[in-house]
Amino acid sequence: MSRSLKQKNINYLELGTRVLSKLYAAGITNIDELISRCKREILFIAGIGNVSLDEIEAALDKVSLKLESDPYGKLVCARHNRERNDTRLKTFILCSDCASEYQINALHNTSPVLEMQLSGGPYHCSHCNELRNLSMFQWYVCDVCERVLKSIGRGIAANKGVIEWWESQRGLDPTLPRIVNTDPPVLRAIGAGSDEDNLDFEWVDDNGRTLFGTEVKTGRNRLIGGSIGARMTRFQLDVSDIVAVLNAMEKDTPFTPAYLFHCQVVDLPRPPTTQFECVGIWWTALADLIDNIEEIKHRPREFRPAAYINKDTFEIIDSFVQEIHNTGYTNCPDPATLRSELESKMP
Ligand SMILES: [Zn+2]
Ligand SMILES: [Zn+2]
Repeated sequence: MSRSLKQKNINYLELGTRVLSKLYAAGITNIDELISRCKREILFIAGIGNVSLDEIEAALDKVSLKLESDPYGKLVCARHNRERNDTRLKTFILCSDCASEYQINALHNTSPVLEMQLSGGPYHCSHCNELRNLSMFQWYVCDVCERVLKSIGRGIAANKGVIEWWESQRGLDPTLPRIVNTDPPVLRAIGAGSDEDNLDFEWVDDNGRTLFGTEVKTGRNRLIGGSIGARMTRFQLDVSDIVAVLNAMEKDTPFTPAYLFHCQVVDLPRPPTTQFECVGIWWTALADLIDNIEEIKHRPREFRPAAYINKDTFEIIDSFVQEIHNTGYTNCPDPATLRSELESKMP
């Protein structure tokens, strides 16, 4: 914008005499003085309310000018793409591939506020967890989005753990069905929608026919037979997660038999980041999981009800190979039956 425009008297703008007189009274005479104020400061002027503020903003808009942004105001979360009370400057340590994935898939193509290459390395990228050269990136995001973004790396590690384990079994016995990662963990922006009705993995026979599928849950704690970390007393799962599995089962005709895996992923400090390691996998058939729900209740401060499941329904992953050899998945009841059993457990 030209210097001369900013130095013009505010009566150059399309403003009513009432608003002009209030601005003059506040000591604002030229356009430059006006646009150095933020909305909050304009509203602080005696006699200026929201209607007058709208008039000022519209007049400035006509000459392609804007009021200053408020340094004490709410910040825009790059993932929500709108102002949020808890938006703050957040730091992520990533490889360049993951940083552009963040920017394009999750952050409405917002460039990082700061990018600073880390010397030394390679280090574990906190998203893909591969050993790479890393940089420190900063974006304005809210607390919720920071938590979501930083949790996906653990999900990626869990998926990797499942694939590596199954491939090692297939190495020993090539007649086992092939595994397909049908719903890999991906970054998404708020409002981007999702295809949540896929199971995380499906196993297919030589003809490409889906035999059964698995939903993967990731946690820090262990079940029977593990030695690392704390032992779970009960397995906890949102009821909506169980319903999502039932929906996914119904996507194919007649339906896809489903299992649930619990992957124990632990954090190993590898400064400046963390290595995620999948140290244990447990399995249960979905029918057994629903059968072993001991209680469904609302947790404090949580909106969605959770199912508390007897941990003994889970088995160490080794026995899953025998389950598949025995075609145990053909015993899976249809989703409608499972749905009514789930409903009978609701409080
Ligand atoms: Zn990465
Ligand atoms: Zn957000």
